[in-house]
Amino acid sequence: MAFLSIVLPSYNEEQNIAHTARVLSGLLVQEQIEYELIFVSDGSRDGTYQEILKAAQQDPHIKGAEFSRNFGKEASIFAGLQLATGNAVIVMDCDLQHPPQVIPQMWKLWNEGYEVVEGIKLSRGREGLLHKCFAGAFYRIMSGLIKMDMNASSDYKLLDRKVVDVLLGLPEKNTFFRALTFWAGFKTVNVEYEVQERMYGESKWSFFSLMRYAITNATSFSTLPLQLVTVLGLVSILFSMGLAVQTLVKYLTGTAVEGFTTVILLILIIGGFIMLSLGVIGHYIARIYEEVKGRPRYIISRVTDNVQGNVTGGWKR
Ligand code: UDP
Ligand code: MG
Repeated sequence: MAFLSIVLPSYNEEQNIAHTARVLSGLLVQEQIEYELIFVSDGSRDGTYQEILKAAQQDPHIKGAEFSRNFGKEASIFAGLQLATGNAVIVMDCDLQHPPQVIPQMWKLWNEGYEVVEGIKLSRGREGLLHKCFAGAFYRIMSGLIKMDMNASSDYKLLDRKVVDVLLGLPEKNTFFRALTFWAGFKTVNVEYEVQERMYGESKWSFFSLMRYAITNATSFSTLPLQLVTVLGLVSILFSMGLAVQTLVKYLTGTAVEGFTTVILLILIIGGFIMLSLGVIGHYIARIYEEVKGRPRYIISRVTDNVQGNVTGGWKR
């Protein structure tokens, strides 16, 4: 009998756990889908894990794990994938902003043989203006960098066991789940949904955490910024050749360029270019450094009793 796992990354979501578990269980029982719910508490500072424990004691379909500290949503998604035992796995936010009503549809498409069902946002829900502009720009750049249309994509998706195993087998630690499923390929279909309002609690993203997320993800998926450094170099070489010829001609005809202004400007501009390029290269070196250290992506400190096997520590990947 086919079996569905639902992975729910949760960070400071104590108000949402019980409600989300109830809504999902109700729906899945009604649809007669065999299921398990996997809540991964991402080092929450509130009672999220206690809520998960309570829910797990009441309902054997519910499993949970707690990280030793906050490792970020990517890590909790991957820990959830690791713990999931289903033939298909759905990843969704535990604040129910990803509407559960879409699950039966995803499940049906999976039964029809699709291996990846991508949740596509019809609109972006209610967000601040700054957030909207920034997210818009980020997705435009990302789509360009990885040559896939990312704008409406989300972390709400269903993956076949095969795809889950491919993702878990990737050696890298800096991942971008949303884009990785595009990258992995497989037989894919889209399902559209309307982003819901958050019922309890608030969004965990600050402007700066989003900024960091954007830069990390963009560079984890593309080396284009490095090539831009080369382009920058080429442009400035062309420019300096022109300038060199002009300067020499002026010198030979006896009307050399006057004053230090030109010199100062040139040094400043070139200095800026060099620093910028070093920064870009430095960023990639930092990424390499992080990967080479080979630290686990997350550390699990506790799991509920119904989780089998030794799962402590993400090095089990
Ligand atoms: N989340 C997480 N770790 C984090 C931040 C968020 O696991 O460090 C989870 C959070 O509990 C939620 C999902 O990721 O289930 C989406 O987060 P949120 O609702 O804050 O983001 P938004 O919906 O505003 O994009
Ligand atoms: Mg949310």
